[in-house]
Amino acid sequence: MVFACSGSRVCPSHVLDFQPGEAFVVRNVANMVRPYDQAKFSGSGAAIEYAVLHLKVSNIAVIGHSACGGIKGLLSFPFDGTTSTDFIEDWVSIGLPAKAKVKAKHGDAPFGELCTHCEKETVNVSLGNLLSYPFVIEGLVNKTLALKGGYYDFVKGSFELWSLQFDLASSFSV
Ligand SMILES: [Zn+2]
Repeated sequence: MVFACSGSRVCPSHVLDFQPGEAFVVRNVANMVRPYDQAKFSGSGAAIEYAVLHLKVSNIAVIGHSACGGIKGLLSFPFDGTTSTDFIEDWVSIGLPAKAKVKAKHGDAPFGELCTHCEKETVNVSLGNLLSYPFVIEGLVNKTLALKGGYYDFVKGSFELWSLQFDLASSFSV
């Protein structure tokens, strides 16, 4: 299963050469996974449930990319209670923990550099959010499922892939 951005330059089937039948793909603004909740009409919740329980996918990859407009928005919107969009600010606010981490660590860096850090860190936030889905945790415990982060830089033509590092034992100790 792949989460990728809706951006026209980063079609995952094209980038990763998927053939029909190979990947179950969800695309949205800035390739974000919202945390598990009981809200109705959760597109990502339905997709994750279907992919894990019915398709029995062995990997979920969340793939970020360079020059992501959604991440630029995340870094630019003030999130001070005012909004200038109907949907975008609420949606990209899923990545606020990534924004906070990047600003704390690289606050003085130029905007473009902040964006790159945030594009990658938001992937980690989404991987963390996947852990809030009970059937994802079950797959990780049973070792039938693995979570991967990816980053596609379409300017450099590079692709990075990393595994989610977390301690299953401690995630259950809470
Ligand atoms: Zn994007």
